[in-house]
Amino acid sequence: MSEFREAVVDLGAVAANVAHLRAVIGTPHFMAVVKANAYGHGVVPVARTALAAGADWLGVADLTEAHALRDAGIEAPLLAWLHGPDTDFAPAITRDIDLGVSSARQLRAIADAAGRLGRVANVHLKLDTGLSRNGLNAPDWAEVFALAAGFERDRLVHVRGIFSHLSNASPAADDEAVARFCSGLDLAAAAGLAPELAHLASTAAALRLPAARFSMVRIGIGLYGLSPFDDATPRELGLAPAMTLRASVAAVRRVPAGAGVSYDYLWRAPEDGNLALVPLGYADGVPRAASGSARVSINGQGYPIVGRIAMDQFVVSVGQDSVEVGDEVVLFGDPDARPVPFRSRVTGIPATLDRKGTGADKWEPVPSAADWADAAGTINYEIVTRIGHRVPRSYRNEEPAG
Ligand SMILES: *Cc1c(COP(=O)(O)O)cnc(C)c1O
Repeated sequence: MSEFREAVVDLGAVAANVAHLRAVIGTPHFMAVVKANAYGHGVVPVARTALAAGADWLGVADLTEAHALRDAGIEAPLLAWLHGPDTDFAPAITRDIDLGVSSARQLRAIADAAGRLGRVANVHLKLDTGLSRNGLNAPDWAEVFALAAGFERDRLVHVRGIFSHLSNASPAADDEAVARFCSGLDLAAAAGLAPELAHLASTAAALRLPAARFSMVRIGIGLYGLSPFDDATPRELGLAPAMTLRASVAAVRRVPAGAGVSYDYLWRAPEDGNLALVPLGYADGVPRAASGSARVSINGQGYPIVGRIAMDQFVVSVGQDSVEVGDEVVLFGDPDARPVPFRSRVTGIPATLDRKGTGADKWEPVPSAADWADAAGTINYEIVTRIGHRVPRSYRNEEPAG
């Protein structure tokens, strides 16, 4: 039975993606990046699944996200790397959250908090190797390494890791960043630091740049079964998209030729035809920029969105096909998955047989998150991550607890 609106997350797909990526990447350690509510998929179920499937670290951007994982009782090694100017690091140190360090100021604040607590804070020094975002600026590396070595001697800080992040601008740019990272590791060793972990690669480099793997990779998009590449589908990478965004048709109407649809009448019916109303809009993360270009699947058939996508709803033109209130609409999912014919709410008859009379071979693949990204001029990461709070997540194929 189809919900009003729903993001269905297949945790079996997440587990399979982790197992596959661990096997092909082969690093001793594997961080599952679950920032931003696990890219919209739901942080706690995804984190538990990834750990059960073989990830041994979790990564998030900020400490609010890290504390949410600890609040849920997740005790795995956990790194947070983006901090506000006045962050109080004490609660994180108490809860064994490793801290990414991007400035001498942060390192001092962490050592200070550790001293007050009488504990050793585990840190990962983040080197800027080209992105010019957060991370220690190369001219400051030697000074911060010396500072960190001093804090290690005072038993305030332990440098557990050194890491950086790549631009993916080009193979040459990434090779240059790898070389800078290696020079940073040498400099750290010369300063007396001996971190157990060096990590540089996210999904893209982990798959295509073996020289960037070091002792751990930080995998985000690949967990969710999406491709970081324009030239490879998830299936070609051995991945299965975990999220299906779907809804039930909320209203249907037949309109005459010339009828305008949605704000600004961006689209007018070219002939008499049927429209279906879908109760999802840009408040739910359906990008308004995809108005007039994205497609959805209803009863296994692809149809265009017509007119503007509004805050709460959009309209699909189904031409002369008949669609009923309650029929299932899939915005995106796994185009390679075998469709499971559902039964019409109204007639109780499998929809394809009911309407097309031809059976399951009539099904078209559902759109992918990448199709939506193309329609909206963005990337698949943004499509899944922005799915809003109003869309309940439901989970399939959860691992048995324990
Ligand atoms: C988000 C993020 C990742 C994960 O990147 P993917 O491309 O999703 O695998 C890894 N490292 C850092 C520092 C990040 O911010």
